[in-house]
Amino acid sequence: MKFTRKEFLKTGALITSGVLLQGHKFFYPVQEKVSGFKLLRDNFGIYTERGGTIGWYVAKDSVAVIDSQFPETVKQFIAELQKKTTRKIDLFFNTHHHADHTGGNLYIKDFADKMIAHEQCVELQKKFYGSNPDAQQAYASTTFTDEWRQKIGKETVVAKYFGTAHTSGDVIIHFEKSNIAHVGDIVFNRTYPYIDANGGGSVASWIDTLEKVIKYYSKDTLFIFGHGAKNDLVSGSLNDVKAMKDLLSTLVDFVSKGMKNGKSKVEISLSTEIPGTEGWKERVAGMLRIDLEKVYDELNKNKL
Ligand SMILES: [Zn+2]
Repeated sequence: MKFTRKEFLKTGALITSGVLLQGHKFFYPVQEKVSGFKLLRDNFGIYTERGGTIGWYVAKDSVAVIDSQFPETVKQFIAELQKKTTRKIDLFFNTHHHADHTGGNLYIKDFADKMIAHEQCVELQKKFYGSNPDAQQAYASTTFTDEWRQKIGKETVVAKYFGTAHTSGDVIIHFEKSNIAHVGDIVFNRTYPYIDANGGGSVASWIDTLEKVIKYYSKDTLFIFGHGAKNDLVSGSLNDVKAMKDLLSTLVDFVSKGMKNGKSKVEISLSTEIPGTEGWKERVAGMLRIDLEKVYDELNKNKL
């Protein structure tokens, strides 16, 4: 059994405190604690260990997985998945290129028949991580521009591109029959998002994209989000998608107003009280400030 340094330290502490001294059972609470493998509804579930939420679908005749987190965490995910099925993954998708969604691709490749992503996802993954020998990559071999669909078992899986958002290559994976959609990082649920301008992201386009997403899906759709303020917020409803759009609009309006009133970028970005953002939290300290800076930069660029 291999441990990461953190797990090793945690296990060491448990040994010292006597918890691990009663045979093989002692590993169980440790594993249970670190595993975020969870059933959502019917054959669908999520895995939340570290990084972007992995979505999974396991039926008798078909298996699909969305995103791969990191090289370390994907191994535990696969181990958990294999407790549910001996079948190979029929379809594997990346929602976008970021390392916390594609870092486990290399490991998952051996367990997957087909790997699918938006063409921009693969381009950006190559651009940002492709030349790093310490982070070997595996890329989706099937790419698409607007939409990709396939029937697997009783399900029809549709990967759809709605436009630029968090990056320029975000897609949503929808299981039409069950009406469950993994939206990747198009929605950060109740936590300030990361606007990846270098990866082609744009807050203005993100709002337009969310508008289209809100029209396309329904109030009955169960959504899986790339990130949430807490683990129990990585799935939700159309209301959460609307809340994401409202948050981005609120930030744009706030920055725009500040600029019209002659405030500097620093003054604006140091604001901590923004009306309409109640209930939104920082997953990473300083993210609100970064968001305000990015919105400022984008509005400033478009003004020129
Ligand atoms: Zn991301």
